[in-house]
This record gives sequence, C-alpha cells and structure tokens, in this order.
Amino acid sequence: MDTKTLLEWSDRYHVPTYARAPICLVRGEGMRVWDSEGREYLDFAAGIAVVALGHCHPRVTGAIQEAAATLIHVSNLFYTAPQTQLARLLCEHSFGDRVFFCNSGAEANESAIKLARRYSREHFASDRYEIIAMQNSFHGRTLATLTATGQEKYRHGFEPLMPGFKHVPYNDLRAVERALDSRTAAVLVEPIQGEGGVNVPDDGYLPGLRKLCDEAGALLILDEVQTGMGRTGALWAYQHSGVEPDIMTLAKALANGIPIGAMVARDPVARALTAGSHASTFGGTPFVASVALATLTTLLEEKLPERAARMGRHLTAGLLALKAKHPVIREVRGKGLLIGIELTRPAAPVVVACLEAGLLILTAGDTVLRLAPPLIVDEATCDRALAILDAALR
Ligand SMILES: *Cc1c(COP(=O)(O)O)cnc(C)c1O
Repeated sequence: MDTKTLLEWSDRYHVPTYARAPICLVRGEGMRVWDSEGREYLDFAAGIAVVALGHCHPRVTGAIQEAAATLIHVSNLFYTAPQTQLARLLCEHSFGDRVFFCNSGAEANESAIKLARRYSREHFASDRYEIIAMQNSFHGRTLATLTATGQEKYRHGFEPLMPGFKHVPYNDLRAVERALDSRTAAVLVEPIQGEGGVNVPDDGYLPGLRKLCDEAGALLILDEVQTGMGRTGALWAYQHSGVEPDIMTLAKALANGIPIGAMVARDPVARALTAGSHASTFGGTPFVASVALATLTTLLEEKLPERAARMGRHLTAGLLALKAKHPVIREVRGKGLLIGIELTRPAAPVVVACLEAGLLILTAGDTVLRLAPPLIVDEATCDRALAILDAALR
C-alpha cells in the first residue's frame, strides 16, 4: 500500500484522537527508525520515553521470540515463573515489597488510587479517601486518572469527574500542608512532571512531601511511569531524593515497548488488596513478564541509568550552548535523559522542522520541546541531534 492511501485510510477509519506526523514508520534499530519512503530518523522520542534500550534490542527481541514460542498467556489463576521473577527483581532493586501487574500507566495509577483508598479506609476511617494531586500533572486517561491529572485541557467534555481529588500547585510544600487533613488518603505526584512541561522540583520537595505525609498518616504515591527505568540517571527518580514512597507506579519503559504496567508497594500497605479485590486479565502474562525481565536485566547489567546521567550531562551542555546562541530558548531543564527546552514561542513548528531534517522529538505542553532518547544513546548521536536542532531553531 502506498503511503498516501494509508494516510487517507487512517483519516477515514480511525477515531480521530491523534494529530499524527504525515509519515508512516516501518522499521527500527537502536537509535534509528525508517519510514515507508526509506527515510531515516534519529529517534530522540523513544516512543514516548518507552524504548529505553532502543528499537529491536537483540535481548528484547530474543526474549519475545522465546516467550512467544513457550507460553504467551495463562490467567492469574495460576502461578507463572516470569511474573514472579520480575516481581522479585523489582522489589530487590527498589523500596518495594510487593508488585501488582497490569497493562498501562493509567491502570497502574488506578491500582495505586484503589489501594490507597482501601488501605486508608481499613486503617483509619471510612471518609478517608481523598487524593491530593498536583496542578499540571499527568497520570493517564481513565476517568480516575484523568481526574488526578491536573490539566483542564485533558478533562474538557468528560465531566462529571471522580469525587475525592484535590489539586495544589507543584513544588509547593505549603500548599500540600494546607490541603492535608483527616480525609487525605494519599499524595500522588510525579518526581519530575513529564507531560506537564518537564518540571523539576526543588531538591527539598520529595523529602518535604515524605515528612508531611508521615505526619498526617497519608501515603506517598510516586508516579514513575515516565521517570522510572533509569530515565533520569537513577533506576528510579526517587533515588535522587534520599526518601522512598509507599507506592510507585511504572509502565512506559518497563518492557521496552510491549504493553505493561506495575504498581510497586510497601508492606503492609500492599496487603490491603486481598484475593479478588483487584485484578487484570492480561496483567503480567508470561510473555510480557519475560520481556520486562530481559529489559530490566539488560538495563542493570549495562548500567544504563549511569549512562543516562552521563549522556544527559553531555546533551544538556550542548543545549545550553544552543541557548546562548538562540534567544528563542528560554530555559533548558530536566534530569538524565528527560530534558525539556522551554521556548518563547510554540514548540510544534520546531518539532516539524526536526522531523523534516531526520530527528524525532516530543513536546511537553505548548512551548516546551522534550527529548527522551533511548538510554543507549552515545555522544556522537547526541551531537548529530544537537546540529539538527540548531538548524531547526533558526
Ligand atoms: C504516560 C504517562 C501515564 C499514562 O500511561 P499510559 O500507559 O498511557 O496509560 C501516566 N503517568 C505518567 C507520568 C506518564 O508519563
């Protein structure tokens, strides 16, 4: 099928929820993808911070092939080894004691919200169900996670939303302190806001939230769907802060592109969800768990979080040099390989110019460019991306 026909069919047959770039991607390898016309692109989007090991990493592809030929799916009414090994590996490398598997970031956050409600009701009071979330946050598109998401543009037209959510400004401990009361079950927050503009809070923010939650007996839920799996230069972004959450949610990079979500929780919080109280048909199948195991093992063995920190410094230094040259750049911010470039004007035309020059990047809000390349990126590839960005900003 030729590309023009494909675009016409998409226009005709899809629910029109996406504003897509007018290319059709057909193949990927490492840092690069190719379109149906044979044009090559450097992928500094990695899906949306998903393919941390790059496209078609041999160990991921190997795990997919092996799992597909062994056992793809059985229900969670039976034990399976890959899911159990993955849960153990996640707990060994985090604060967590127990893991629940599902299929997406939104679903992981739904699980966390349900767990917080149930735990708080059982341990405190039946009216203790409120979640304090942040303005400008992003937690997903289901009705509960949309309610948690502090951005009006995503909620428009979908009211009524869920009861039991409050929003306060990000990076404002006083606002959280004022909002906390005997009805607060949990504070839900991204360690760095991704979709909301790559907003990095002050160093004291997470420790401050931890302290406020402890004083109020509220749970601290960290949404690490985007920041997890080494993206910020540590395996989990909370590790930069010196404090740990009670619950953390994961998805995006966990199986390098095969859909998976996970909620990691501390005991005894996790035990508030008992047999039959929560479930997912597809959650943690032998197939996806094998792929996530291969992804996480590779990430750890190849020390990719450290690499993300190193490459992040290299890329940021290059971007600061561009900032000195292009007054259109207002600020460069981020951590590791989650980088935001705030412009004085809309970011979308720069994304188009980069695409035309063979570089895929993202936005995070109207005026922020977002870079989230695979963690396997090297200096020379960063420099090529910087050169394209330099030209696109002119
Ligand atoms: C992408 C994202 C989600 C939603 O994940 P889905 O898999 O699209 O449901 C939730 N939280 C954060 C921080 C995200 O970046």
